[in-house]
Amino acid sequence: MMHNYNKIFEQHLHDLKQEGHYRVFATLERQSGNFPHAYYHDENGTRKQVTIWCSNDYLGMGQNKSVQQAMHDAIDQYGAGAGGTRNISGTQKLHCDLEASLADLHSKESAITFTSGYTANVGALSTLINLLDNPIVFSDALNHASMIHGIRSGNAQKRIFNHNDLAHLEALLKEAPIDAQKIIAFESVYSMEGDIAPIKEICDLADKYNAMTYLDEVHAVGLYGSNGGGIAQMRGLLDRIDIIEGTFGKAYGLMGGFVTGTQAMIDAIRSFSSSFIFTTALPPAILAGALASVEHLKVSEIERKTAHINARYLKDALEENDLPYLQGDSHIVPLIVGDAVCCKAVTDILLNDYDIYVQPINYPTVPKGTERMRLTATAAHTKDDIDKMVSALTELYQEHRILERMAG
Ligand SMILES: *Cc1c(COP(=O)(O)O)cnc(C)c1O
Repeated sequence: MMHNYNKIFEQHLHDLKQEGHYRVFATLERQSGNFPHAYYHDENGTRKQVTIWCSNDYLGMGQNKSVQQAMHDAIDQYGAGAGGTRNISGTQKLHCDLEASLADLHSKESAITFTSGYTANVGALSTLINLLDNPIVFSDALNHASMIHGIRSGNAQKRIFNHNDLAHLEALLKEAPIDAQKIIAFESVYSMEGDIAPIKEICDLADKYNAMTYLDEVHAVGLYGSNGGGIAQMRGLLDRIDIIEGTFGKAYGLMGGFVTGTQAMIDAIRSFSSSFIFTTALPPAILAGALASVEHLKVSEIERKTAHINARYLKDALEENDLPYLQGDSHIVPLIVGDAVCCKAVTDILLNDYDIYVQPINYPTVPKGTERMRLTATAAHTKDDIDKMVSALTELYQEHRILERMAG
């Protein structure tokens, strides 16, 4: 029998579209120096300027002059690529400098960089699990796909605790054999909810049940703590977390991932993690940019302060206008629409009529009935940008009777 392979993929795409889950990317042209404004290109090839309201470049570091200069200089000095994997000719002096800076950031013995935060989670978690003796992993229900991937490829026994639910986590820990090896894997800032984990209490449970702690601080590094170390640093808990994972892709404004921990844990990840070993190393420009960004945010408070002030200003303005945002302690502000079609319609109108770009967040990323816009007021947004956004939202929520729909 003849297989029509192309047809199979077409059918899957057709189904995805029918279910309303087909993703359409907005094509942007970022403009150096003009963030959070950028050009948007529509399907007809016309372009217009929009304000971005869903970027993870929380501090505008993607356009920081010292970061850009460091990247230009690195290309001039070292060339374009790394030239190999870390093991075979790809390790640059810049890797060593950056990893030393990251270990210092988290007051840990050691650090290791990956080509993304995603591969850092996959590589670190799967390696830890594989080297332990049949461990049980306790994973928050809202953990990121990359952590789930890492836990799955480590083939661990997995217990999922309800999001940020200490009682449930403890019940699951209690059920496990007392002498079993255990890892609790969780995030600090949850980016779809905008809330923050009870890190201290989770560490207390980890102590009580003798578990390792693995904390994803991807949405917090650069943004929280006295030198950008994240929530654990801000709360004075760095020494209570065994492994901290982060990215250069969000507040640091670039790309690439890392984990920090003890010398032995990091050396084990370096020695056994496939997703670290068998891939080309980060190139000089990225390394130099990341180092400049991390070092800049260790000493500079202004970006962090401005971002948090802007997030507060946004939340207060939403509150005043009775717009239903999720109250969390982080800088991320999810605004509930509660219906997939309406969420898409509202974001389309924002883009077409208000020159505001925010991506709708629908099922399966969030549960049905909780469709939302995930708003990020970055350090680069002005009060005027925020006022415009809130007045557009207020109009649209009234026009589309969104609160009434949610109540009914
Ligand atoms: C974005 C994200 C990652 C992946 O980081 P990248 O550097 O973008 O690959 C990991 N964990 C969480 C919670 C994230 O939101």
